[in-house]
Amino acid sequence: MKTVVCPYCGFGCKLLIGEERRRVKPYPGEPNRGKLCPKGLYALEFVFSKDRLKRPLKRVGSAMVPISWGVALEEIANRLLEIRELYGPDAVAFIASSKISNEENYLLQKIARLFGTNNIDNCARLCHEASVHALKLAVGTGAQTNPYEDLERFGVVLIWGYNPAETHPVVMDYLLRAKRKGAKIIVVDVRETRTMAFADHRLILKPGTDIVLANAMANVIIREELYDEEFVKTRTSGFSEVKMGVMKYTPEYAEKVTGVPAETIREVAREFALAGSGAIMWGMGLTQHVSGVENVLAVINLALLLGYIGEKGGLYPMRGQNNVQGAAYMGALSEFLPGYVPLTDERFRKRVASLWGVEDLPTERGLYLTELWEAIENGDVRALYIVGENPAVSEANFARVREALRKLDLLVVQDIFMTRTARYAHYVLPASAFCEKSGSYMNSERRIQWSHRVCQPLGDSKPDWEILTALGRALGLPGFDYRSVEEITAEYFKLFPELEDRSVEELKTGEGIFLPRKRLHTWEFATPDGRARLIAVERISPWEEPDGEFPFVLTTVRLISHYNTGEMTLRSPSLLRLMGEPRVLINRSDAERLGIHDGDWVEIETRRGKIRMRAKLGGVPEGLVAVPFHFKANRLTSEALNKAGTPEFKFSAAKLRKL
Ligand code: SF4
Repeated sequence: MKTVVCPYCGFGCKLLIGEERRRVKPYPGEPNRGKLCPKGLYALEFVFSKDRLKRPLKRVGSAMVPISWGVALEEIANRLLEIRELYGPDAVAFIASSKISNEENYLLQKIARLFGTNNIDNCARLCHEASVHALKLAVGTGAQTNPYEDLERFGVVLIWGYNPAETHPVVMDYLLRAKRKGAKIIVVDVRETRTMAFADHRLILKPGTDIVLANAMANVIIREELYDEEFVKTRTSGFSEVKMGVMKYTPEYAEKVTGVPAETIREVAREFALAGSGAIMWGMGLTQHVSGVENVLAVINLALLLGYIGEKGGLYPMRGQNNVQGAAYMGALSEFLPGYVPLTDERFRKRVASLWGVEDLPTERGLYLTELWEAIENGDVRALYIVGENPAVSEANFARVREALRKLDLLVVQDIFMTRTARYAHYVLPASAFCEKSGSYMNSERRIQWSHRVCQPLGDSKPDWEILTALGRALGLPGFDYRSVEEITAEYFKLFPELEDRSVEELKTGEGIFLPRKRLHTWEFATPDGRARLIAVERISPWEEPDGEFPFVLTTVRLISHYNTGEMTLRSPSLLRLMGEPRVLINRSDAERLGIHDGDWVEIETRRGKIRMRAKLGGVPEGLVAVPFHFKANRLTSEALNKAGTPEFKFSAAKLRKL
């Protein structure tokens, strides 16, 4: 049996798949320790779907007609070069994928930058880019600081805006072991979640008030002198500003704003502080707000006040897709080179350029994924090359995105299915599925793992790295003569000093390699002065508050059996059976007032559009409605962006109507 990285979430479970490809077994070692969730267990089902793309297609009028690989790549390359000639390199943009390998993301960002643009981004922009910005500001690195195994060593785990029971089910195994060893579990969310079932403290706060709650906890920790004075004095800066900033956030004030009782805030702050060591885990409940960066800074402050870093604690921004961490680390972001190095770092930039056989690379920040649609509307971007992403469903206010896609002079989509986005394309290139190719992936804890090929690509599909190598060559870019995926791995290893002495063979046979190392900031922070920064933050109001016409707050949630825009899981019969029909969660009192019963069809409307879904009563407080993200919820969501370019998916003003 061969080990293959699960194609779904960022936890990074490994699957054991035999040559006959009938069954998936869990890998007994790290990180999943013999466990898998239903998505991993049934991961082969979508691979054999009859809907798989098998040949390159070209739009002719309203029809998509098969063409050869050679003709497709030559025509695409010629069109891209023509557009660059006419409008400049920034008229072309590339969207990388959080589901393809490190090698494939590395190649796509290399193509973009050698082509002359930093218009390269991936869906990290939609989820944890606010975490990256906040972590870079506070501790100097943009990723999870500690391995999963540390969760079992700490005295407390604070889980904020994150529901691992649905999103990363195998994490629950770690948390249950931590609890058995005596750790306290505190869960903060805007609704009752499955994760709360085993928590010691469950705090349900009003949507958009996270900063107030975090600042009130900091208020208690500082006023009652529970913070780690030595750590704060020797390893941080900014304490007096934070101390001054949180003074007005008393628990009583916070109760009025957040709805969490003042006494609970005190009790939880004390328990968190007195545990002696602790982890903070968070998800998109924190980041997908206009205040996303500040939300994350506010919870990081709690860890820094208590010295919960390195051996005593960790920061865990839990990643969504299986290689979103790798896509970002490989440089598929418009503001960073590989390793999150800023474009302005001339020494590193020139080193990368020299490795790629050119003198220099573009230095201007490219467009964020979420800024592309306006740029297309304005005619600034004329061509878009998308690998394995589905913005026609995954972007906020997707009706606008679909209109923008129609306007492009050239849209190329490289994917395994004819996705909703691919329907707008001029060319569709069939990619191989995860088990039909080899390559490396990086999970949320920054562990690079090798995924082995277990079967041949279906039909005429090709691994993404092969398609991108051929595209680079057709564009006349230097160095696109890779004959194996391992050659690309060896090339990206050269960019990271920590990988210089490691071999691809070692990656293939071992338990993976942590980049840059297993545990960060044990002795020193990666900031210019080596100190972490405590940063005072004030509450920022949501972009669109409820009013008389749209009186509800709409939020989006994830389901255990489904994933992202559903292209893979909705083609898995076993997962469909497990999940049943999607439902919108409505509070019982709200439902009674509106005459809505369990199972009734309702219409949910925001200023951007409306969708229909059956109702499920309960699970949310009054005034909140929660729609599963996987089923066209982004027809409704707000595209207001935070400082990191992430939309406010978690807060829109909405109204409900019984049908
Ligand atoms: Fe795959 Fe995530 Fe489930 Fe593990 S927890 S099997 S990585 S979807």
